[in-house]
Amino acid sequence: MAERARLCALSVDLDEIRHYHAIHALTPATPAAEHAVYDRAVARFLDLASSERVPLTLFVVGSDLARPQNAALLRRAADGGHELGNHTLDHLYDLSRREPAEVERQIAAANDAIAAHTGRRPTGFRAPGYVVSDGVYRALEATGMAYSSSVFPCPAYYAAKAAVIGGLRALGRSSSSIVHHPGVLSAPTAPYRVGTPYYRRGTGLLELPIQVTPRLRLPVYGTVLSWLGPALAPRLLGGLVGRELINLELHGVDLLDRDDGLSELGKRQGDLRVPLERKWAVLAASIARLRQAGYSFVRLDEAAHHFASRS
Ligand SMILES: [Zn+2]
Repeated sequence: MAERARLCALSVDLDEIRHYHAIHALTPATPAAEHAVYDRAVARFLDLASSERVPLTLFVVGSDLARPQNAALLRRAADGGHELGNHTLDHLYDLSRREPAEVERQIAAANDAIAAHTGRRPTGFRAPGYVVSDGVYRALEATGMAYSSSVFPCPAYYAAKAAVIGGLRALGRSSSSIVHHPGVLSAPTAPYRVGTPYYRRGTGLLELPIQVTPRLRLPVYGTVLSWLGPALAPRLLGGLVGRELINLELHGVDLLDRDDGLSELGKRQGDLRVPLERKWAVLAASIARLRQAGYSFVRLDEAAHHFASRS
């Protein structure tokens, strides 16, 4: 019996600003702000990773690589030892409802784009908006992926998302966001192999669920850590100590604020009102807390390798 691991992985979904405009049914971002994730946030994450000596897993939307600056930045990140993961070609929020051929193309074409532009072929996948289906897992197996980190078994997140979508509908507007099957709320909260349906255990692809707290299954991701701040976020994380994997999911906007040309979006996206300095301090304090508890920081592909050999 192997000794219990203490691994922590920090992953960053590189959702560009236009996706937030789509969620909130807003008009397109201004030219100054539309590339804020790639032009500002990615460099900040790489600086943070370097000063804290942690590797990152960056989940990349394949179509963003058509912009040469983005491709060059990610190539540098990969050369620096960070992992590039697959966040689909176009970040379609309704991926799970598309035809099987389209689902497979969204995954395969993102792998091809990332490999062509950076020389690294992803082995890991994260679904847009955390919405997966049995069909998405079939496509992941068909395209040779080694793991997914998409399941978010969090009732509070589910309720909040359903409320936003319902609220927009009541206003006669439509969000591009959709909710997943409620069965996912009872999915395992630690690494598991998916069955059919995917939120039950089986012998399929390895899934590394997004982190939630024990019992209440409250969300433990970038937005929540930012809100809690550098004093409280480490206490929340302290409650997770003992878990073999702490899978912290962040977004590009977790190192952006209103001063990055995002004051309009900040009216809807509350976490943009948290100042950058505070967001940085939260992440540094969170890393320090887990390191103090004996956690090693790894890429998600390394974590997947560890858990695949045992399950
Ligand atoms: Zn995303």
